[in-house]
Amino acid sequence: MPLNRSSPPPRLKILILSTPVGALGSGLGGGVELTIANLARELRSRGHTIAIIAPLGSQLGDLPTIQVPGELQLTAQTQEQAASISMPGDPVLANMWATARAIQHDYDLIFNTAFDWLPFYLTPFFDRPIAHFVSMGSQIAAIDLAIERVAVDFPGTIGVCTRTQAATFSFGDRCHIVGGSGVDPAVYDYCDTPEQTLAWLGRISPEKALQDAVAAAERTGMKLKIMGKIQDPDYWAQIQCDYPHAPIEYLGFLPTHQLQQALRTCKGLLMTPRWVEAFGNVAIESFACGVPVIAYRRGGPAEIITDGKTGFLVEPDSIDGLVSAIARLDEIDRAQCRHAAETVFSQSVWGTVMESWFYRLVD
Ligand code: UDP
Repeated sequence: MPLNRSSPPPRLKILILSTPVGALGSGLGGGVELTIANLARELRSRGHTIAIIAPLGSQLGDLPTIQVPGELQLTAQTQEQAASISMPGDPVLANMWATARAIQHDYDLIFNTAFDWLPFYLTPFFDRPIAHFVSMGSQIAAIDLAIERVAVDFPGTIGVCTRTQAATFSFGDRCHIVGGSGVDPAVYDYCDTPEQTLAWLGRISPEKALQDAVAAAERTGMKLKIMGKIQDPDYWAQIQCDYPHAPIEYLGFLPTHQLQQALRTCKGLLMTPRWVEAFGNVAIESFACGVPVIAYRRGGPAEIITDGKTGFLVEPDSIDGLVSAIARLDEIDRAQCRHAAETVFSQSVWGTVMESWFYRLVD
């Protein structure tokens, strides 16, 4: 679709391909679930037509969803770098992309959010341009290779969240940095009068190192509210066993409205990922509530948090670092956090970035 530069930008028809590791709303997909929902709403509010192909059972409110049956994919972060590409007998991933191929001509652009081999392999076989949103750093060599081929043959189509994420790939300079997400500030209530409580949000899975936050809470004696999907039950059981007296409270995997209600009254959010987190949606959701974020100086959070202004960046994997930063939380002006969510990490700011990327790809 060539764009006529003198007329208003055209309304696009965008087909969004969801993650194949879980139904939307299940929490198994991690941050990409919120990212898809917020982007779809933003694009729709700008007059674009969107449809989302997602695994059966997905819940996306009033967003148009094409539900596809099949078995879920394994998450990439639970596999070795040298892992072979594996597919279950009746893969939802393949079924979703077969659906996309059948209806691609009704759309101007396909937006891929799956961090898996197949969508990259299939790219040359599609007629419509595909914008690939790569939401993790390098995990599996075979997937890296498939992404790299697309980066070379279809320049500009690989979008990543942050510079540090791009640097995990040998072809990082061929990636287009588009940011990781944007929140609607209206969905999160600002709170200026926090309690002596900390928060930790996310998938409960080893790469997120929840145990570090629990250890820091134990040292400070401050209560830690934990919210998120228990992706690895053995890992969660081990933490409870290792820290039987830590002042923690697990609130479950909460929908956004309840999550922000529990988060907003907290003094700070702890982010403790061991891996190179590509972005970190929970940081910007925390900002939207006015809650400063303490994170290891590594990966996406190090690009999101302004040290001393919207939170603190501490030495990676240092419990001492977390504890010292917790003691300094009063130095942060919570209004600055909210301001960052409104002006830098909002759904509308991110929508503009993504929309201009999409226009370039259909042009
Ligand atoms: N989340 C949620 N309910 C919870 C805890 C977390 O919906 O109780 C969501 C949160 O809104 C965020 C996601 O889980 O969008 C975690 O995303 P993040 O980018 O921080 O990490 P990822 O899981 O992608 O590695």
